[in-house]
Amino acid sequence: MREKLIEIKNVSYSYYTDGEEEATASPALSDINLDIFKGEFVAVLGHNGSGKSTLAKLCNAIFEPSTGTVTVDGITSDSEENGDAIRRKVGMVFQNPDNQIVATIVEDDVAFGPENLGVDPAEIRRRVDSALKDVNMYDMRDREPHNLSGGQKQRVAIAGVIAMQTECIVLDEPTAMLDPMGRAEVMNTIKRMNKEMGITVILVTHFMEEAVQADRVIVMDSGRIIADDTPSNIFSDIEMLKAHSLSVPEPTELCLRLGIKETVLDTDSCVRAISSYLGGDMT
Ligand code: ADP
Ligand code: MG
Repeated sequence: MREKLIEIKNVSYSYYTDGEEEATASPALSDINLDIFKGEFVAVLGHNGSGKSTLAKLCNAIFEPSTGTVTVDGITSDSEENGDAIRRKVGMVFQNPDNQIVATIVEDDVAFGPENLGVDPAEIRRRVDSALKDVNMYDMRDREPHNLSGGQKQRVAIAGVIAMQTECIVLDEPTAMLDPMGRAEVMNTIKRMNKEMGITVILVTHFMEEAVQADRVIVMDSGRIIADDTPSNIFSDIEMLKAHSLSVPEPTELCLRLGIKETVLDTDSCVRAISSYLGGDMT
């Protein structure tokens, strides 16, 4: 039996602008129902303004829903106290690496989260070293974060969450500001965290080639969940993707245009599919 970690039930969310009593005309999220299970790697797709970041912030109780409930491991995000308890279970990594580094030395930055949780110093030392090794940044533990690349900074931010030993990590477009190498480093770290450390991952992304690496893909538009399925089912539904202004991964598009029937998600399976399409052996 799969165990539920996050349960989002009939959730709507509206932003209030200054001085306004009423919610804005169109809510950022409308009647969302979603369960996230322990150990899953879920990608969230949707064009700008579809509600992805709002959903992410509800998952770790930065926001409380306007209506409906968000429950994490049995704790409902309806009070400040419960919010604190939820943030011990669900960590968050944001888009801009410069906005989440708080210390002037890498290892101090990673220690910041567990220090705030009141973890004892010897245990913090152990967690910081271990988390820095997990993200391949141990050799840079004495560096000043502002001298690091964007990908390295994001991995330090991820180490900070690992050191807090949260069960789940929500990453809101963590690779959007990175170069291709930084993106690959961060994606490898995310996958290792999920597969080897068993951390539940919710990855908000606009890169299709990242979404195909998840176990499950959620598509959002106008504050609603439009689709929730495996990557291969999501990316074979080209009509649905185009209707919600999303693109198709390049290998998928290429095979599609060649008239290859099977849904291809990555470069390797694209090579295999084209090879058998041509009747040769390119592998
Ligand atoms: P996404 O992350 O998918 O781009 P968001 O969750 O940021 O979407 O936004 C969903 C909707 O809420 C959009 O219409 C956006 O304009 C609105 N919104 C987001 N943040 C705020 C805010 N701080 N104040 C008012 N409206 C907001
Ligand atoms: Mg966003």
